[in-house]
Amino acid sequence: MIGPGLLPVVFPPEADERLSSWIARMAPFYAMTVPEFLAELGLPGRDVFDLEWRMSEGEGARIALRTGLSVETIQSMTFCDFIPDARMMVARRNRHHCPYCPADVHRRSMSLPWAFHCPVHGADLQDTADVTLPAMMGDTRTAALATLAKAGSAVLDAWALGAGQGALDAPEMLAVLTARHRRASPPSLAEQPRMSLQTRRDYHDFLTTPIIRQALTVVVPEYDEVAPVLAKPVRSSLDALAQGSLLQGFALTVGIGRIVEDPVACAINVLLASDVDGQVRVREALATWPLSLRRRISARLWRAQRDERERQSAAKPRKRRQSHEFRLIQSHEYRSRIS
Ligand SMILES: [Zn+2]
Repeated sequence: MIGPGLLPVVFPPEADERLSSWIARMAPFYAMTVPEFLAELGLPGRDVFDLEWRMSEGEGARIALRTGLSVETIQSMTFCDFIPDARMMVARRNRHHCPYCPADVHRRSMSLPWAFHCPVHGADLQDTADVTLPAMMGDTRTAALATLAKAGSAVLDAWALGAGQGALDAPEMLAVLTARHRRASPPSLAEQPRMSLQTRRDYHDFLTTPIIRQALTVVVPEYDEVAPVLAKPVRSSLDALAQGSLLQGFALTVGIGRIVEDPVACAINVLLASDVDGQVRVREALATWPLSLRRRISARLWRAQRDERERQSAAKPRKRRQSHEFRLIQSHEYRSRIS
């Protein structure tokens, strides 16, 4: 026991620092574990992550009494303003790290999968292998997507606070982005590394592994180009963000930014790129979108399909079309045989 009243030493919280991080930094100073320090603050038996998720006013007041911080400051270090569905997005530590931040400081925004820069240093965040998004995607590509990522992050921030953008909100967009729009298929030639014939034989299992194909690769073709083929599939809906890698989180956030910009065009691009079964799954995901949007999608899709048919029959002489169709059938048979 340290005694009642103010603690003799209180570390000032860092910018955007979360409660669990601040408490975990102070406990060792008093030679205590986090549960022991919480008991010292008058909160015995409380889990620090539960506390920063939902903290009563009385609990905030007790911490204020011992630390001299205001209840408002303490509350701003928690996730008390988040909706219950958003808890899965809050990691227990920084998801990705900033090279300039102290290792023991965990910031509120950096627990979320749609943060890509340090809020203090502005540095690109790094994954567990110290790789940044520009290193994965290239500087030009990352810079070109920055505005869309910002728009997507804003949608996700609003959703987490329960102040969504109306009926078309983050979960409805993620349902479409993660929908399997085509049947699983082995890596395409473009997705395969260059290999000798012998290596191809050695890697037969890899070359014939069916990869899940999701609408995300249509809405964000930049991701399709750079993601390693085996790490391309994401989980479904909100899990995709909550459990995704840095690159996957970025692609999904950019996807949301793109859908917000033009939901109808995104949906049509996905539907046009889908196979028959995939279209059913995409339509199921789209069923959660507002009716007015779905009506516009149906009308534009009908026109787009008609234009596509007209373009194809006008552009291609009959003989070439036949051989093209023949090749398509062949490749389709090949795929169904091995998957
Ligand atoms: Zn930093």
